[in-house]
Amino acid sequence: MNLVPEIQALESQMRDWRHHLHAHPETAFEESATAAFVADKLTRLGLEVHTGLAKTGVVGVLRHGTGERAIGLRADLDALHIQEASGVSYQSCHPGRMHACGHDGHTTMLLGAAQVLAQRRSFAGTVYFIFQPAEENEGGGRVMVEEGLFDRFPMEAVYGLHNWPRKALGTFATREGPLMGAYDIFEIVVTGKGGHAAMPYVTRDPMLFAAHMINALQTIVARNLHPQDAGVVSVTQVHGGDTWNVIPEQVVLRGTVRTFRREVQDLIESRIRGLAAGVASTFEMAATVRYERRYPSTVNTAAETAHAVRAARSVVGDAQVETDPVPELGSEDFAFMLQAKRGCYVWMGTGEGEDTVNVHNPRYDFNDRALAIGGSYWVTLAEQQLPSDAMRQAG
Ligand SMILES: [Zn+2]
Ligand SMILES: [Zn+2]
Repeated sequence: MNLVPEIQALESQMRDWRHHLHAHPETAFEESATAAFVADKLTRLGLEVHTGLAKTGVVGVLRHGTGERAIGLRADLDALHIQEASGVSYQSCHPGRMHACGHDGHTTMLLGAAQVLAQRRSFAGTVYFIFQPAEENEGGGRVMVEEGLFDRFPMEAVYGLHNWPRKALGTFATREGPLMGAYDIFEIVVTGKGGHAAMPYVTRDPMLFAAHMINALQTIVARNLHPQDAGVVSVTQVHGGDTWNVIPEQVVLRGTVRTFRREVQDLIESRIRGLAAGVASTFEMAATVRYERRYPSTVNTAAETAHAVRAARSVVGDAQVETDPVPELGSEDFAFMLQAKRGCYVWMGTGEGEDTVNVHNPRYDFNDRALAIGGSYWVTLAEQQLPSDAMRQAG
């Protein structure tokens, strides 16, 4: 392990920051105290601080030397709607809200890196520290991009990181191309003809549609996708009917689709629409389909992936950085930044044994032993990407 000494020296301070943030979680677009905490720290470090981007987002600007080059490092601020059951002494003081995805750790590591980069001044150019709101569900990263993040703060590339309890502490993993999936939702409303359950011949039973449609949806991945393409179609809600002896007029099916590639996403959407129309017409009913693309897939660009891998290897050693992990179909709001800008998203291992609790669980807590690793990764990445003249000559 090759931790940045100034980050190591900051470790206990970083723990305190992290525990403070953990005890005061705020959810999507309401992260005002968290944003104020971040803005205050950055201001004290002498950074130029911009607030209010995507409501509660913060961008800190650190310039040094004569270099024209610039990169962005991104962390997320928000918590989840979960009642905490971790039992830690700094447990959430906000009922029903919890830092169950470790964004308290992400924010802390980026603040630590800002402090150390401001102190070391061993780079040339500009580092933008991007603290985005509403990573969970609400697309705060998308809103930041729409509000001109990359126009106001021109940078050549943007980098993101997520703690990963299912990989070992002291490791990193990332890959060129898709690392996380696209997240779409669908809703199918079928309208038949309601009536007495004892006289189905005078009705058009939408339950029949639901039964056939759920089966038919499962043929898309099995029969329409190329075997090497990944996709998931899950029906997660069926709503219909109120009592024993009435055939309802309408049934609603809802669910989610996960994919890595746009072509597969297009194919699945079109098959859902085709199947809904076909099954409805078979049973002489009408179905409407609402299909919404929530988050695109998180796709890393080649050169920036190599830069991220190099920085991670400098910190944890060559053998500890995986460069072809199996991608996950969970989704990540950072995808919107990667659609607008070259960059790379990495998983930082935080697991310690089989029993490590995963993110989004009420018993989860960010692993403090990873703070110095993630902080060192950010500092190393920035210094490698924006080398000062002295570093360039030495290197
Ligand atoms: Zn999450
Ligand atoms: Zn997260």
